[in-house]
Amino acid sequence: MFHTFYLNNDSLTAKGLCQQQDSRYLIQNPPIYPLTRKELDRVHDLPYEREVHPHYKKEGEVKALETIKFSITTHRGCYGECNFCSITVHQGKVIQERSEKSILREAKLLAKLRDFKGYILDVGGPTANMYGIECQKKLKSGSCSDKRCLYPQFCPRLKINHKKQMEILKKIRQIGGVKKVFVASGIRYDMVLSDQKYGERYLCELVKYHISGQLKIAPEHTENDVLEKMGKPDQGCLKRFRDKFLQINKEQKKKQFLTYYLIAAHPGCREEDMYRLKEYTSKELRLNPKQIQIFTPTPSTYSTLMYYTEIDPFTGRAIYVEKNLKKKERQKGIVVEKKVNSNRNFILNHHINKSVIYFYLLFNF
Ligand code: SF4
Repeated sequence: MFHTFYLNNDSLTAKGLCQQQDSRYLIQNPPIYPLTRKELDRVHDLPYEREVHPHYKKEGEVKALETIKFSITTHRGCYGECNFCSITVHQGKVIQERSEKSILREAKLLAKLRDFKGYILDVGGPTANMYGIECQKKLKSGSCSDKRCLYPQFCPRLKINHKKQMEILKKIRQIGGVKKVFVASGIRYDMVLSDQKYGERYLCELVKYHISGQLKIAPEHTENDVLEKMGKPDQGCLKRFRDKFLQINKEQKKKQFLTYYLIAAHPGCREEDMYRLKEYTSKELRLNPKQIQIFTPTPSTYSTLMYYTEIDPFTGRAIYVEKNLKKKERQKGIVVEKKVNSNRNFILNHHINKSVIYFYLLFNF
């Protein structure tokens, strides 16, 4: 049922679905067509107040507005299709992008706002570096039902090229009153690595102009078995990107960092995987990760399907799923708590003690 639902999310190919439920039918209509560039421009060009509604203002400041107010959304949609994320379903796999003119118009408007201090805090979307990169076949006849654009390999029909993004960012930097433009939305580092022509230049420009000391990336895990369940690039890809990032920082004499988003207790993830993640991040990546969230099953994702059924929907094989809340928290604790080694030793000792007792009993009785 989920496969049928998931594959019916491209407006060019989707059909209405219905499922009998007792004596009635549940109907799902096909999704609307993606907005054209012109339509999306119109949405963003509306005369927004860019302020908290007076009704809420009475209740105090809205913290999130500070970030949103001086940020620019360049596009909607994502073709990353990470298994735990529902953006593919609710925004679609097609990148619906604004025109350069519309983006620059908004940047100029922000620069004129009374409380603008010279900083545009984000230029991005669900995945910042998908702007301007889309498959022509998908736009004409819909997304493929038998393969994904980025996983497990990049589809050769997706021509990855960061040139357009670099040009827009440069033009925003040059607007009067703008001191700094950040890309704070996450980027797909595997896309940067695969862009032979502009990938390195794009990363250089990010390092030079568009990050405030740290670049956020979302490897979500480091162990390949778990990454495979998530539909994310493997450990080797993360390492290559990290090395490239450090090399560029060195060349530019900068000391900037990568911030890693990670998930604990995703279907297929055991405590051992979290110990290996801890070891890899501290020894290989030399960091002590803080941004770890416990996997939460949410509607419309393959990971939730795995969580519920305890089956890998792509292979039909049973998978380990951690459902005990305390053990889920423990998976997170393995990475964020300092006492990990003593906990691990406790587990090892516990097993050793059990074995010792077993042998003692065996040889004495
Ligand atoms: S042809 Fe390739 S890039 Fe285009 S939609 Fe299909 S999988 Fe994605």
